[in-house]
Amino acid sequence: MNLIPYSDDDFAKASERLRLVISLLSKHMIPPSPMNFRMGYDYVAGKSDELKAALNEILAESPEVSTDALWELYQQFFVQDDKALENMRQELRHIIVNIQGEFERSGGNLSSYANKLNRFSAILDTPISPETMSTEVRKVIDDTRTMEQSQHKIESQMSSVLSEVELLRKELEQVKEESMTDGLTGIANRRAFDTALEHNIDSSREEKVPLSILLIDIDHFKTFNDTYGHLVGDKVLRFLATTLKHCLKGKDMAARFGGEEFAVILPQTPLGGADAIANQIRKAISSVELKDRSNGACYGKVTVSIGIAQCRLNELPNQLINRVDRALYLAKERGRNRVEKAT
Ligand code: GH3
Ligand code: MG
Ligand code: MG
Repeated sequence: MNLIPYSDDDFAKASERLRLVISLLSKHMIPPSPMNFRMGYDYVAGKSDELKAALNEILAESPEVSTDALWELYQQFFVQDDKALENMRQELRHIIVNIQGEFERSGGNLSSYANKLNRFSAILDTPISPETMSTEVRKVIDDTRTMEQSQHKIESQMSSVLSEVELLRKELEQVKEESMTDGLTGIANRRAFDTALEHNIDSSREEKVPLSILLIDIDHFKTFNDTYGHLVGDKVLRFLATTLKHCLKGKDMAARFGGEEFAVILPQTPLGGADAIANQIRKAISSVELKDRSNGACYGKVTVSIGIAQCRLNELPNQLINRVDRALYLAKERGRNRVEKAT
């Protein structure tokens, strides 16, 4: 994953999105200001499920989109990220200014020390008394000691800069990690899934190996929530994520696709293999009697319906997702707690 925002979008992809954003914004008479453009870009690129849903809501509300609503949305989705990065940038700037100052000071000290040594060496060339000699030698010793101390100071500053930079690097890793992780379940979020799917489609094409995906949706989850409450529902989502992790291996990737839907990428897997894994997941989930360890409450079992699809030659991520979504719909229609293949 590249740290530079949008750097995975090559010229063709970004240009296509530019076209889509302009058409989206002009359809709703939204001025293509940098902020609105950025939201529109992430929207058409499907970079965030939450942003897409929030923007859809605004667009559906009234034919004239209010500037306030757009600004609120922008703050919600972008200003936080920007702030974390800006803080880090500030800290780095601060560290660099400090170390520059210290180098300038020590550079000045060094040249004045060199001058003093030159003067001493000139004195050695002239006939001088033992007293003068002794005074001069003492001066050189003092200057050398001062110089040594300033070197020490710089060394310890350098090592503290190193540890600060290391700390910042770790923070940055964490921010990066969090932006790709679903807060509730701890597995990859939609953004991470989209990025991974693009990469996986590219490599399956290059290496000429099959690639399949699964789309998993909990059956009658609304009823479950209504019966036991949203917090118990959240626990079920975590249970699902854990079960997925147990059923998958190697380069397989599970993500929370949104709400009560999960998606799985299965590299190097044909449809038949995907079918086996999907059924294994389905059975693993439906066989467990859900129990709350803290109070012993029983919630019965939940089942899932799963759509599976193998990526076609030259198929785009969105087309593949559409097909697997239709397969999932079919699984629902044909009775739930089952797996259906995409056509
Ligand atoms: P179906 O079998 O057709 O999928 O029925 P369903 O009730 O699962 O589907 P529907 O789309 O009607 O409802 C999805 C429910 O998922 C609605 C909402 O209560 C629940 N849900 C979505 N996200 C979350 C979440 O983060 N936590 C909890 N607890 N529930 C969620
Ligand atoms: Mg659903
Ligand atoms: Mg459901």
